[in-house]
Amino acid sequence: MRQDWIPLNCGENGLGRSYNIASCMPEAVAFQGVSDHSGLYKFSVNESDRFWGAVARQRLSWISPFHTVQNCDFSQGKIKWFEGGKLNVSVNCLDRHVQTCPERVALIWERDEPGTEVKITYRQLLELTCRLGNLLKRQGVRRGDCVTIYMPPCPLAVASMLACARIGAAHNVVFAGFSSEALADRIRDAQSSTVITVNQGVRGGKVVDLKRTVDQAVQNCPSVQQVLVAMRTENTVAMTDRDVPLEEEMMKEDVVCEPVAMDSEDVLFLLYTSGSTGKPKGLVHTQAGYLLYTSLTHRYVFNYHDGDVFGCVADIGWITGHSYIVYGPLCNGGTTVLFESTPVYPNPGRYWEMVERLGINQFYGAPTAIRLLLKYGDEWVQNYNRSSLKTLGSVGEPINTEAWEWYHRVVGDGRCPVVDTWWQTETGGICIAPRPSDPEAEIVPGMAMRPFYGIKPALLDTEVVTGDGVLALCYNQYCPLNCATPLLGFFFTGDGAHRSKEGYYQIVGRLDDVINVSGHRLGTAELEDVVVCTIIIMFGVYVFVVLKKAVMVEEDVLAQQLREMVSRSIAKYACPDFIQVVRCLPKTRSGKIMRRVLRKVVERNTDELGDLSTLDDPDSVHEVISGHRRLC
Ligand code: ATP
Ligand code: MG
Repeated sequence: MRQDWIPLNCGENGLGRSYNIASCMPEAVAFQGVSDHSGLYKFSVNESDRFWGAVARQRLSWISPFHTVQNCDFSQGKIKWFEGGKLNVSVNCLDRHVQTCPERVALIWERDEPGTEVKITYRQLLELTCRLGNLLKRQGVRRGDCVTIYMPPCPLAVASMLACARIGAAHNVVFAGFSSEALADRIRDAQSSTVITVNQGVRGGKVVDLKRTVDQAVQNCPSVQQVLVAMRTENTVAMTDRDVPLEEEMMKEDVVCEPVAMDSEDVLFLLYTSGSTGKPKGLVHTQAGYLLYTSLTHRYVFNYHDGDVFGCVADIGWITGHSYIVYGPLCNGGTTVLFESTPVYPNPGRYWEMVERLGINQFYGAPTAIRLLLKYGDEWVQNYNRSSLKTLGSVGEPINTEAWEWYHRVVGDGRCPVVDTWWQTETGGICIAPRPSDPEAEIVPGMAMRPFYGIKPALLDTEVVTGDGVLALCYNQYCPLNCATPLLGFFFTGDGAHRSKEGYYQIVGRLDDVINVSGHRLGTAELEDVVVCTIIIMFGVYVFVVLKKAVMVEEDVLAQQLREMVSRSIAKYACPDFIQVVRCLPKTRSGKIMRRVLRKVVERNTDELGDLSTLDDPDSVHEVISGHRRLC
């Protein structure tokens, strides 16, 4: 493991220099005789019923109270939280805020063209949701049905999700960049009778015919009886008997829609993983535990306060969008940004121009975008005023030290904590992150660091290991998440992790990517961290290199430099055997490197590339295959 981590004190984050326990702990348990973060964390895992019972009563509005906090047995795959309780998620995200602050902005729709944002208040979002809920009922959607939503980030997409929750239907949001085949697969899985879409999407200055993709998909989906079509652009599209003009029909509906009392463990939504390691897995999240956990993590990991503007630039089609654009922020009465564009439209300053214009306080993005933007240089960031920023978040992949430091030093002017958040679609919410903790506590670059309340990680080898063990990151049932993959009573995450002597966690990559070189276990994240100035991915001891635009260097010189860097920073045994320079790497549509595809290319098994339905740019694979030029 690297020895040169520089612990950075990331400042007080506006909380005052003296440690204020209330700033990093749920108020409901602040009185339980716990005086610091580590005491509170211990309380959350040792007395998890008391912890989560108190937090659930305090943070959620219940139609009827739960009688049992948890009823879980991982070895049986049984996970039940807040049994006996009834609630409605849309009431928690809307009605109760409309009662206290109806004119507070709930959504800022940051449309593709900068400066054309639209703000929607809590009162307006509740109205939209109710009208849509009534329309869905008129179309025959009932409690327990599953509605597929194929829309880019926009207020009607959020209202559609909440309308499903209001009437007791589940939703199945499909990222609006997927092909008609991938969409059809997901519609069939959900057996949806209803699909909600838009006529066209607009992204990066380009118009995308989303309705046409839906038309193609539903040809192979006999369950679909109607397609509700919202108008994102002025352009008309061909409508069939099955199609319902969404705005026109919803305006006929009442602005009141009675919320259905749902059981805590009823299904809230269906969603697929990114497909980095194989065919995407369809997952289910339920009502109460999911909502409570996303609301708590949103509040404390990002230190979100009333009045802050939360800018998560993910798409709503991924779990990050579900949890930290929609459910977490809205449950907390927050103001949340819906980003329709790309990090480089109209130029690489887009994120930071938006931060200035909207006054974003917490910015949450992905390492892939950070790595892309740092290549364009600091000026694109420094052109804009970022003084509103308080916390910077990262999610989706390990964030290498160079990207972390750039994010911290340039974007955050060295004064905002960077929270590297580790979690998965399966967990639904952030499990490991540097905060909450004493605001004075150190944050180590590139480390997710500390388990959140109720999360008890374990490192497994052939058995649970302590101290310096690496390999699997697991936890058992101390938090209201719905991860039912039992293995020896643990939830097996599939990621490798290292625990430092201080007890901090570092994700070292997926277990499949941990390689054994001369008897040494080597994680891809560790290697990429060392050579990231030129290397984006490492497979085995085969390195794929993506050069920064400005770097012009002879390939054999480059190879020599890389080998020296690895040898110096890790060890000789980790030196690459092969190096291939590529223009770009195959990535999922959520921006993650598809290492399994690279592995097949290296193994020359290009007939067995596996499921490519989530691949973003097919050309990237062809290029990697055809450019099979190895330097040694
Ligand atoms: P699939 O499960 O279909 O192969 P996926 O695992 O990429 O795809 P997601 O649920 O979107 O699907 O991603 C979760 C995974 O992303 C984690 O298991 C981990 O490998 C990686 N990840 C997420 N956040 C971080 C982080 N902060 N640091 C390191 N890795 C992360
Ligand atoms: Mg996964």
